[in-house]
Amino acid sequence: MRNPHAGIPFGTSTAEIAEALQDVSIPTLMLSLVHITKNPELIRGALKPAGLFLNEVQGYMSEEDKAEVRSLALDIIADYRDAGCPETEPVSDALLHEMMNWLVCEEVPDEYVPMLREEMGLEGKDARSVETKTSRAAKADFPVLVIGCGESGLLAGIRLKEAGIPFTIIEKNAGVGGTWWENSYPGARVDVGNHFYCYSFEPSDQWTEYFAQQPELQAYFESVMKKYDVDPHIRFETEVLAARWDEAENHWRVDVKTKDGTTETLSARAVISAVGQLNRPFIPDFPGAESFTGPSFHSARWDHDVDISDKRVAMIGAGASGFQIAPTIAPNVEHLDVFQRTAQWMFPNPNYHEKVGSGVQWALRHLPFYGRWYRFLILWPGCDKGLEAARVDPNYPDQQRAFSEMNEFTRQMFTDWITSQIPDDSDLLAKVIPDYPATAKRTLQDNGAWLNALSRDNVELIRTAIDHIETDAVVTVDGTRHLADVIVYATGFHATKMLSPMEIIGRDGVDLRAMWGERPAAYLGITVPNFPNFFCMYGPGTNLAHGGSLIFHSECQMRYIAQCLEFLITEDHATMEPRQDLYDDWHERSQREIKMLGWSQPTVKHSFYKNADGEIHIVSPWRLVDYWGWTKEIAISDFIVE
Ligand SMILES: Cc1cc2nc3c(=O)[nH]c(=O)nc-3n(C[C@H](O)[C@H](O)[C@H](O)COP(=O)(O)OP(=O)(O)OC[C@H]3O[C@@H](n4cnc5c(N)ncnc54)[C@H](O)[C@@H]3O)c2cc1C
Repeated sequence: MRNPHAGIPFGTSTAEIAEALQDVSIPTLMLSLVHITKNPELIRGALKPAGLFLNEVQGYMSEEDKAEVRSLALDIIADYRDAGCPETEPVSDALLHEMMNWLVCEEVPDEYVPMLREEMGLEGKDARSVETKTSRAAKADFPVLVIGCGESGLLAGIRLKEAGIPFTIIEKNAGVGGTWWENSYPGARVDVGNHFYCYSFEPSDQWTEYFAQQPELQAYFESVMKKYDVDPHIRFETEVLAARWDEAENHWRVDVKTKDGTTETLSARAVISAVGQLNRPFIPDFPGAESFTGPSFHSARWDHDVDISDKRVAMIGAGASGFQIAPTIAPNVEHLDVFQRTAQWMFPNPNYHEKVGSGVQWALRHLPFYGRWYRFLILWPGCDKGLEAARVDPNYPDQQRAFSEMNEFTRQMFTDWITSQIPDDSDLLAKVIPDYPATAKRTLQDNGAWLNALSRDNVELIRTAIDHIETDAVVTVDGTRHLADVIVYATGFHATKMLSPMEIIGRDGVDLRAMWGERPAAYLGITVPNFPNFFCMYGPGTNLAHGGSLIFHSECQMRYIAQCLEFLITEDHATMEPRQDLYDDWHERSQREIKMLGWSQPTVKHSFYKNADGEIHIVSPWRLVDYWGWTKEIAISDFIVE
């Protein structure tokens, strides 16, 4: 990483700087000024943000205060430019903490500061990369196989390369990006702000939108892959079918199938599964679906050869993907029927479709630490606060409506957001207010596009269940035939069938998926007894429903895995696997914890988090700060080592 304290000289004119400052987050700018001037008094006066809310990046400052900061900043930045952008000095721990508190208008607890400092990378070093002490020869004897090349698998490749451990990544698709390779449907975009949803050590200042769309996300992962020269290690269009532990040789034997259908068996001392939780499309079994004569496809397999303009489109399912598709295609199709089982709660986010202005991009590139503080600003409101808010108060009277007083407050806020957009007498109103507590399923980001789309004359929201499909129509249980030229299945993924359809066989022939059934578990979401040298990224119990970014989780997991590999190689051990008692205890505690959270409640009938028995095993019930702490350093005593 470049020394972030060393400025890169720029020649932007004072008038252009003034123009740029119109765009920027003023509280974030203030902290950059503290770095430039080394003067903390700047944030000890009357000019300060007034409050914090997710995606509210101006801290509710008044226009007058913002203007005053801009004028102050202009002189400071012009001087900084004229001095050739001299190196800034690292701030003390105490000042760093003060700056954090100031930006988010509350006391950031001490326990978070080291995690946040690391995430922000203020020292300019990649603190999650693992230093290796082992000789090249020892490493050469320890090939690692990574399954999948989404953000997790790519990160694994970057870390293994840094460590000098030989590795191969097997990826079934023709390119990198996983989720962001496959989900090319119209409107696909991230719903965690991109200045946080990117690797901590590779913070792009290029994003053109705050919540980037799929092509830009895929291009980001592609550029990172090239920058770190991981591509020569990837075998694209090759799928892992099975992995078997060879007890005699202490190797994994991994069966792969290449594009031309040939199979081969690869050997590795360790396997990292990075196959994601949302990678295998799920389409419900609707009677007659095969008789439909028009094109039909899953949202993650969007058929770009099908011209949907001026067609009647039936979109079945309106969860996270459908919610993005409908507003994007509605203006182009003749008619759109949206079949939705349950209404979704939406989080009001006016920035959701906003472009990153040129002023912000200039600040990200030129103002010391602007981008790092901006990352912190969008990270913090979603950092563990959602978990507290998800906690169920069993004594709260109407659990169908809300599971706690705080949850009732959220319900009101979300309901106000819906009712502010549609008239009281609209038929739509009854269909779009969910009948389960707010945040109890994945909450979607919304800037008004969803209800705007549903209010169009050419769009109908259908909440009646589907009975069957005919050659030219979707037929609901009330007998209505909804004519369709094209069917889009926005019906989600086999989320609870972890690692499916691979066959993973560990010691004594134990079949991982059979052992798990619909109750997958891994110690810290990473390792499983009887599966030596087998590591999961985005494994069981690591999906994030309460906030944060999965890239943060992946970085925690890969640091932990890299330490395991380093331990095995340095100490010349053949295998490691977690102790059964710790694994059982982890699963038991995780289950106990998750049952006390909103997502588990019986009031939520359908949710992709839940298995067939209504239990949740794929989502993390833990605070980010705890997970970060638990995965920061491996405890050898947690493992059985041979
Ligand atoms: C539509 C959609 C929107 C999302 N939006 C967000 C969001 O806004 N914020 C957020 O934090 N998360 C979001 N997610 C979750 C997202 O999956 C993660 O953020 C992240 O991309 C996971 O990365 P990954 O590498 O772990 O898994 P994936 O991205 O799923 O990548 C897994 C890779 O493994 C490959 N693979 C699978 N099986 C095999 C096999 N047997 N052999 C070879 N290769 C295999 C796949 O082809 C794929 O490339 C979203 C998911 C979806 C589906």
